[in-house]
Amino acid sequence: MARHGPGGKFMKLTVLGCSGGIGGIGGEDSRTSSFLVDDDVLVDCGTGVGDLDFDALRRVSHVFVSHSHLDHITAIPLLVDSIGELGRHTVTVYATPETLHILRAHVFNWLVWPDFTAIPDRRSPYLHLQAVKIGESVRVDERTFTALPVRHTVPGAAWCIDSGAAQLVYSGDTTYCPELIAAINALPALRHLIVETAFPEEMRARAIAARHLCPSMLETMLNELTGEPLVYISHLKPGLGERIMEQIGAIRGRLRPARLTRGQVIAF
Ligand SMILES: [Zn+2]
Ligand SMILES: [Zn+2]
Repeated sequence: MARHGPGGKFMKLTVLGCSGGIGGIGGEDSRTSSFLVDDDVLVDCGTGVGDLDFDALRRVSHVFVSHSHLDHITAIPLLVDSIGELGRHTVTVYATPETLHILRAHVFNWLVWPDFTAIPDRRSPYLHLQAVKIGESVRVDERTFTALPVRHTVPGAAWCIDSGAAQLVYSGDTTYCPELIAAINALPALRHLIVETAFPEEMRARAIAARHLCPSMLETMLNELTGEPLVYISHLKPGLGERIMEQIGAIRGRLRPARLTRGQVIAF
């Protein structure tokens, strides 16, 4: 498909899912974290990927994973199985070495799912795992994906997506993380920031224990940002989205976060 370029077309990110869970409590239409970049790249691979039809699935060749928690990886095994055999199609999954180790040991271990890095054979498998250390970048055509540091209960990464014209950061799952803030502040062309706020303020202790953000921690983070990105809130706990957004709305600061919604398209 047509791509962006500094003097050309933009790159686009479509939200397939941005909830902390499934079930759609209170009229919410919940799918877990999954974002389609243009039509061939996924950033996280949660339940939102299940809404793509087969033609859309078979265009996906690259998956950037924030961390190994199930809500972010659940569709990877099914995606690879569905499109591998029929199209002899290889999907490359990019994540930190620690996350790939977990996927190998606990998902693609022949017990939970076959090891698709050996199917049909190791020389041309349907699944390719490529390690990206924090601070390293991967180029996919004209687009650059850089792993940024986070603090969560398991090793993980945020991803900076650079279209050549502008940058978008997706936090993945993280609690307050000075290293991430420093990395974001060092970006020269940040335009969009998707950041989680999993818990409401009254669950601050849970947010700290589960290494997520709550509104007061988000406030601290936003106050330390030096740029002027548009801020979108993701990973709201099902049923608590309105409450969390109300609390975020009461934050006083330069940046006015909006709730990210499924189906939303961000061009940059
Ligand atoms: Zn997580
Ligand atoms: Zn999560």
